[in-house]
Amino acid sequence: MEIKNKHLSEVYGELAARNAGEPEFLQAVAEVFESLSPVADAHPEYVKAGIFSRIVEPERFVQFRVSWVDDEGNVRVNRGYRVQFNSALGPYKGGLRFNKEVSASVIKFLGFEQIFKNSLTTLPMGGGKGGSDFDPKGKSEGEIMRFCQSFMTELYRHIGPDTDVPAGDKGVGGREIGYLFGQYKRLTNRFEGVLTGKAIVSGGSQIRVPATGYGLLYFLDEMLKDRGLGIDGKTIVISASGNVAIYACEKAQQMGGHVVAMSDTNGYIYDPKGIKLDVVKQIKEVERGRISEYTKRVPGSTYTEGSRGIWTIPCDIALPCATQNEIDGEDAKTLVKNGCFAVAEGANMPSTPEAVECFLANGVAFAPAKASNAGGVATSGLEMTQNSIRLPWTAEEVDEKLHGIMRNIYAAAKDAAAEYGMAGNLVAGANIAGFKKVADAMLWQGIAY
Ligand code: NDP
Repeated sequence: MEIKNKHLSEVYGELAARNAGEPEFLQAVAEVFESLSPVADAHPEYVKAGIFSRIVEPERFVQFRVSWVDDEGNVRVNRGYRVQFNSALGPYKGGLRFNKEVSASVIKFLGFEQIFKNSLTTLPMGGGKGGSDFDPKGKSEGEIMRFCQSFMTELYRHIGPDTDVPAGDKGVGGREIGYLFGQYKRLTNRFEGVLTGKAIVSGGSQIRVPATGYGLLYFLDEMLKDRGLGIDGKTIVISASGNVAIYACEKAQQMGGHVVAMSDTNGYIYDPKGIKLDVVKQIKEVERGRISEYTKRVPGSTYTEGSRGIWTIPCDIALPCATQNEIDGEDAKTLVKNGCFAVAEGANMPSTPEAVECFLANGVAFAPAKASNAGGVATSGLEMTQNSIRLPWTAEEVDEKLHGIMRNIYAAAKDAAAEYGMAGNLVAGANIAGFKKVADAMLWQGIAY
């Protein structure tokens, strides 16, 4: 990875010295800065206003103690975070992740990416992210509720419908959002659109649950059509079996795709006849069980221990929907060797820099996360609008708006890449298109921002 512009390279050097020990955050910034070199060359006004140094420094970063009592009566202590990275375009917006891997570095990488993703949606949202190193896996309902209530007991003072609007992410689904929302309401005595991903009976949006997965397929469809290709009849491998993966699979199957594999943290299933999504939903959404169960219920399918091996399955299209850095350079080479011609990222930063390089060098149609998985936050933005006007839209209305937003994001990324001499490179295009709007808003608002 090379940051060609001298100013950007210096800013990155200072950032790396200041944030040593935060590898995920530095990886995310390096990837964006690499794309922005031609923008810095062409826009000395951004350099003069210190936009690049300012955009990598969060406006606010909160870390807090979350103590709660488990079912055996033991006091447990976790760490909570909220990064309010950039509010140039609107209130901070971004999910909460509950997972033992969560650290300041992970939250800052996700918050930084979120700035540009939200900008690409064209909705008025700044960038933020939060979470905790609490892992909901294996916890009882009561423990999860008490944890969420304790987490919100601190978080509520930092958020609000016009300040910062969190949502879900890994480990935070409808159940957790419900407990968080209930506690916010109790503490503030206000029923307002402070969180998105709410239940429909409490002001949530239709389509929010499947939005990220559906949006991913809408983006993929656009990218393939532009290359004279399509999803119908293609063999597809999807990592994970969480929110994004399940609804990516649902839409892929609706579009005629043949999904043959899915996974979880333990291993992957292969079903040459095509994944039976109702079985996966029952295991993962209802029973909250392990994906290995699938083979007991579907004859002819197999289970392999170790999630990474999923990338050895020959496929036309790969959809990584699990976590950061889940495809490395070697996995990418294997995918290319086996004939994979398109990769669309459902998870955030699932491909390492070496993997991205391999895909681009081999002409794989590559959809980067901040563009291709923006459907979730876009629909959250629509939920905010519905809460503000106090008027719900139908599923058809929301789906149509989501589809339009994904088409526009594709066009914006494609056009920006072409404008800066990198036609076809959607990584660069998404970074540039997302960045320029934020930079112009920061310029307009003066140095205090
Ligand atoms: P969920 O918590 O719903 O599901 C996470 C899934 O990933 C689970 O199936 C989990 O398995 C699996 N998983 C985690 N690590 C691995 C791994 N190393 N290999 C294979 N599977 C793994 O999370 P989401 O679906 O919401 O989020 C997934 C990704 O998508 C994250 O990167 C998130 O930031 C991103 N994203 C999510 C959005 C949303 O709207 N939800 C929006 C935009 C991005 P197990 O069951 O074993 O835990």
